[in-house]
Amino acid sequence: MLVAEGVRKSFGDSEILRGIDLTVGHGEVLCLLGPSGSGKSTFLRCVNHLERLDGGLLSVDGELVGYRRDGDVLHELRPREVASRRAHIGMVFQRFHLFPHMTALENVIEAPCRVRKQSKQAAVARARELLERVGLADKADSYPSQLSGGQQQRVAIARSLAMEPKLMLFDEPTSALDPELVGEVLTVMRDLAASGMTMVVVTHEIGFAREVADQVVFMDGGVVVESGPPDEVLTRPRHERTKSFLGKVI
Ligand code: ATP
Ligand code: MG
Repeated sequence: MLVAEGVRKSFGDSEILRGIDLTVGHGEVLCLLGPSGSGKSTFLRCVNHLERLDGGLLSVDGELVGYRRDGDVLHELRPREVASRRAHIGMVFQRFHLFPHMTALENVIEAPCRVRKQSKQAAVARARELLERVGLADKADSYPSQLSGGQQQRVAIARSLAMEPKLMLFDEPTSALDPELVGEVLTVMRDLAASGMTMVVVTHEIGFAREVADQVVFMDGGVVVESGPPDEVLTRPRHERTKSFLGKVI
């Protein structure tokens, strides 16, 4: 579903991603770990084409991110084509970025109505299902300011799902939450994984990674240091850098 080959990205003189290779199969969950500044968010932004690659290739569901292949020639996509492909990838951030002047329901129907041109009636019916799925059926008419951080993050997840993504990217979705609110968001993510969604999750929640991930990737300094099933990488890490990182976060 997601293939990264030799992905490189620099900002000015500093090379932030120095050749990232990884593959996420259909329905798999990859948890991406690594110290601050190692390039995790930059990688997710590349997958979503919020950043342009300086080298390597990324593809999502067989389609190159940012390019169209014509025989052996790659053509850069126009902004409108980029936007239409991005619509198939959901992204959930540390901060929830809900529209503050819209209710939970209005937040969820916004993109389907505006981008997908879905009828309001169909979008509302689907949004109610999604709010129910994230445990917020009774909060449809609440504004973000009336919701807890955990509830806002669950609305953000429902809003992403409303676009029927093929792939969901999560960038530290629980790290801005009070500890008692982390569990409810992880529960929604666990259910989503169980439903077969393909997910890349940047997280420091080692328990979640151990339980839900098919694959754990540890990144440092813009390269993949170590990757494999959770019980290998998290329980028997081979590299010193992985050991020392896990020693700090567990
Ligand atoms: P954290 O765990 O703190 O979120 P991260 O692994 O997500 O870290 P990134 O946000 O990908 O790390 O950043 C990697 C490096 O790239 C950092 O040194 C950051 O300062 C730099 N960087 C990221 N975005 C830009 C940008 N737009 N311009 C310049 N430098 C950037
Ligand atoms: Mg980050």
